[in-house]
Amino acid sequence: MKKHNFFAGPSILSEFTKEETAKAVMDFADTGLSVMEISHRSAEFQAVVDETIALVKELLEIPEGYSVLLLQGGASLQFYMAPLNLMVKKAAYLNTGSWASKAIKEAKLLGEVVEVASSKDKNHSYIPKGYEVPSDVDYLHITTNNTIYGTEIKSDPEVSVPLVADMSSDIFSRPIDISKYDLIYAGAQKNLAPSGLTLVIVKDDALGKTGRTLPTMLDYQTHVSNGSMFNTPPCIAIYAALQTLKWYKQKGGIATMHKLNVVKAKLLYDELERNKMFKAVVPDPDDRSIMNICFVMEEAYADKEADFLALAKTKGLVGLKGHRSVGGFRASTYNALPVESVQALVDAMKEFESKH
Ligand SMILES: *Cc1c(COP(=O)(O)O)cnc(C)c1O
Repeated sequence: MKKHNFFAGPSILSEFTKEETAKAVMDFADTGLSVMEISHRSAEFQAVVDETIALVKELLEIPEGYSVLLLQGGASLQFYMAPLNLMVKKAAYLNTGSWASKAIKEAKLLGEVVEVASSKDKNHSYIPKGYEVPSDVDYLHITTNNTIYGTEIKSDPEVSVPLVADMSSDIFSRPIDISKYDLIYAGAQKNLAPSGLTLVIVKDDALGKTGRTLPTMLDYQTHVSNGSMFNTPPCIAIYAALQTLKWYKQKGGIATMHKLNVVKAKLLYDELERNKMFKAVVPDPDDRSIMNICFVMEEAYADKEADFLALAKTKGLVGLKGHRSVGGFRASTYNALPVESVQALVDAMKEFESKH
């Protein structure tokens, strides 16, 4: 049976990514060796790293003066690395959920954190607006897409201080104005590659200002100076990332991905409005994520949750169970998820409604 993969992360990758990576696991670049068993310093693998970085720059239209880094440790290590490298004394954080809270916790180890606003009062079901950012902070940190709660900041904020963003679950989903940011980081396992790789985009001018002596591996400058090859990189994950980037380019780039993502999200949100049994968790359409769509049963049908998941399973719809802190359901509609999979989910919701 065809599977429709709605997992939040690790999550769906394109068929192209999987097929090309599988080939390279057996025979990489006609070397007769696996991409798992060849030196990362070989000319063949260096070419993979170079092309990956070049394609990230091309697809995201990254201006001069930025470095693209391929690191390890996940977005979770970036929660500490970002303030370690950029915070002199004080930074502002927007608290839009548990990933943002984890970032705040790490930043507090290094200096003063001003929480400019929080959506905690309503279980993070909205994006706070109209908050003031103090002018004397070293940066403002935002989480552009809140994977767990299904909220998203869908345009690049205008602020007068440097901007730092965790884009783990929406990078490559829409065009971004990179010039607005000093630092962007993203765990690869949501829209790019298998886990084990973290993408970092850093403005070169932003580095070297803290006066701290940094541990070698936690210093962005180490990785800038060594072309992300200071130590052994996650070779398979990078190879897979390159295939995804090639697939994005072949499909028409990030603008095309964005159009398709909007179509998919609209299909599901419209059904959530229409269907008497379900409702979206995030009330304001402006705040609704186009990557992670959270929904619950209407109160009158609250006892039918398990029944719906059982029906979904018979249709090959997997990964729909909501995060424990929100409950209900979550459909992750990352770039690689085809429109047909969202249609299959909508069809199942209609069938479920007609049965009750
Ligand atoms: C998944 C996720 C993380 C955690 O990423 P790891 O790579 O597992 O550390 C952080 N932030 C956001 C927004 C995420 O979606």
